[in-house]
Parts: sequence; structure tokens; C-alpha cells
Amino acid sequence: MPKKTATTPIQTVLAKVRPVWIARVSQEMARGMEVRADFEGQLSRFCDILEQSITTGDPAWMDPILLDWAKSSTETELEDEPYHVSYLINRMIPLTIQASRETLTKVQALDLLAAVIPIYTYGLEVVARYEMETRVAHISSEMEKVQKRMERVDKSKSAFISVAAHELKTPITLIEGYASMMDDLMQQGKGTNLDSLLAGMNTGIGRLRSIVDDMIDVSMIDNDLLQLNFQPIQVSQMLSALSLEMEPVLRTRKLTINMQDFDGNKEWIYIDATRITQALRNVINNAIKYTPDGGTITIDGRKLAGFVEVTVADTGIGISAEDQAVIFEKFGQLGRVDLHSSGKTKFKGGGPGLGLPIARGILEAHGGSIWVQSPGHDEIQNPGSTFHILIPARAEAPDPSMSKLFDTLGKNKDKKVIEQDDTLGIDG
Ligand code: ADP
Repeated sequence: MPKKTATTPIQTVLAKVRPVWIARVSQEMARGMEVRADFEGQLSRFCDILEQSITTGDPAWMDPILLDWAKSSTETELEDEPYHVSYLINRMIPLTIQASRETLTKVQALDLLAAVIPIYTYGLEVVARYEMETRVAHISSEMEKVQKRMERVDKSKSAFISVAAHELKTPITLIEGYASMMDDLMQQGKGTNLDSLLAGMNTGIGRLRSIVDDMIDVSMIDNDLLQLNFQPIQVSQMLSALSLEMEPVLRTRKLTINMQDFDGNKEWIYIDATRITQALRNVINNAIKYTPDGGTITIDGRKLAGFVEVTVADTGIGISAEDQAVIFEKFGQLGRVDLHSSGKTKFKGGGPGLGLPIARGILEAHGGSIWVQSPGHDEIQNPGSTFHILIPARAEAPDPSMSKLFDTLGKNKDKKVIEQDDTLGIDG
């Protein structure tokens, strides 16, 4: 009769193999001492539950720890990292064999493997199912996001087309009207005094150009193609140039610009002066447009750490809280076609709704920002709006070669550099 060897209880076998097994697994799987210490604690918990599963014969005891582990890797880690939990459990099998070989007798090792392998297999199934579900959820949420983005693009595209069509129609009609009047006069041999008709036609062409330019700007901003040409300038120079430019309109509309001298407005800062002036112009134009005749526009500001803040406050119709959330979005005014194109500076003249998105795009491209404060919209009380424009106050151009170029212009830069920018008409 073969000699019967006394079987060692599985708890004893597990206790024997446990320290080596924990060391092996943590060494292979956890990089870095700190991670390893924490991981060893986790593996110790795993061993306790493993023992419970073996003694009760129910692998479901493993569920909580397996799910805890599986949940700890984020969706993106599951996408990118090979070190997820199913990989860990897979690796545990050869490491258990290795640790058993080193610490147990053959019989004990076989007993242990016979007991743990079905539990590992069960663990793999649970974790793989969970990981698969998480992956599927991740992929569908990504697909949902892409679909939403596409819907937004689609909406924005049709918004663009409908606003473009509407906005472009007005000046085209104007040009056509003047052209046909000129044609009639020519036919009648009265084509000598056409100045006023030509002026009208030019207004239409100017409006057309400005709408097309705005559209090009928006598309450049959307595609991150806005190129900035950094030059040193003082904020006060841009503001004086703008108030000069606005003078005729202010006179017609009986509006007053109250220009404050504030801390930081004489500081030389590197910005794209043409673009920042464009942003300021859009905001001031709006202040003019949405303030009834006789009102006041106060331009003030202050110096902040790393920024110069300009505020444009008007005594106009104000902006409701819900509109404040959308006016910086493209075509924020969509649906109010009634407002479009009745004039660039006329009271409540409306427009394609691109002025503020362009201003925001320009400021953000500089690293600045723009926001609005208004108690609400009320065309009787006229609560007013205040736009805050935060312009980064760089002491040098982001491109070092530009900075060097301007440095070589020496102390005389005050005049020379500004003179280069004839589009602004700044007189220093
Ligand atoms: P628009 O071409 O319509 O003027 P903007 O992007 O410049 O487009 O402005 C978007 C909208 O924000 C305007 O249509 C208007 O409703 C609102 N808005 C902008 N500035 C003011 C302001 N100063 N006061 C009241 N409403 C304003």
C-alpha cells in the first residue's frame, strides 16, 4: 500500500507562500517605493480574501476587491496603459507558480495551484467583463461627444449661412439700388452729378467689406490662424485714436465719451496694436449702438499684476443675464434677424453678431480675456453695461527676434514704431 502523505491545510500553505508571493508581485507590478508599499497592503488584502474564497469554495468573495481595483484605473488608462487589472491577474498566475516552487513542496504547490487557479480564472472573467463594459462606455461617451461637436459645427455652419445671407443681402440691395439709379440717370443723359449716389454705393461696399472681413476673422480665430504682430504701444494711444475716430458718430448720436486717465494706460506693452484696437473698437461701437442718444460712455481702467484692464461702461439698455452668457459666442444674436444690419452705429443697430466673438478671440490669442457686467436689460431704465477687457502687459514681444528689432530702435521708439502703424492713425 502506498504511503499516504498527510495533506497540509491550505491556510498553512497560503501562509507559507504569502510573503514571497507578495514581494514578487509587487516588485513586478508596482514601480516606485511608495506605490509598492501601498500595493503590498492591497495584495495582503487580496490574499485574505483569496483564502476565504478557497475555504468557502465561493469565488464571489473576490468581487469587491476585483471591482475596487478595476474601478481605480480610469477610462483613459484603460485605453492607453497595458497595466490594467486583467493584465495584473494574468501575471499573478506565473508568479504564483514561481513563488510556490521556491517555498513549498511539490505536493503543497500542486494543492495550492489547484485551489487558486480556478479563482484567478474567475477573477479574470469578472475584471475582463468590467473592463470591457468600461471601454464600451468610454467609447460611446467619446462618440457622443464627437456627435455633439459635429451637431454644433453643423448648427454653426447653418447659422453662418443664414446670417451671412441676411447680412450680405442688405448692402448688396443698397449697392444695386444706387447702381440702378446711376444707370437711369446716365440713360437720361443726366450722369454728371453722381457724387451722392457714389457715396451711397461706397457705404454699401464698405459695409459689405466689413462683414466679409469679420467673417474671415471669425474663421481665422476658429482655426487658430490669427497671427499676431507684437509691437510696443501704450493703451492710452489706442484709446485716443479710437475716440478721435468715433467723434463724428458721437456728435450725430449726441453721446459723450468720458475718457479717464488711469494707472497703467501709459505703460509700454507688447501687443498686436491693430488687433487689440479692433477688439476695443468692437466694444466701444457696441456701447454706442446700445446707448440711447444723450448717453455717456466712460472708458476707464486700472493696472493689475501682469495686465492692464480697460473698462467700457455705457448708460445703455443693458444686457440680461441669459444674454450675457451667449453674446461672446458666434451669432449670439441669432434669431433676432430683426436687429441685423440696420446700421453700424445706429441705436440698436444690430449686426451679424460677430463683434464680441472676434474681440474675445483677439484677447484670448494674446492671453487676455473679456467679460461683461450688467444689472439686466431694460430699455426704459437703461441700467447700462460695463465691459472688462484684460490685456496682458508684456514687457517684451513673445518672439525674441521681434523684441530685439524693437530694442535696436532705441529710446526713440516712442515715435518711430507707432508711425509705422498708419492703419491706426495714432498721433502719440
Ligand atoms: P452685433 O453685431 O449684434 O452687435 P456683437 O457680437 O457685437 O454683435 O454683440 C452681440 C450682442 O450683444 C448684441 O447684438 C447686443 O444684443 C449685445 N450687446 C453688446 N454690447 C452691448 C452693450 N454695450 N449694451 C447692450 N447690449 C450689448
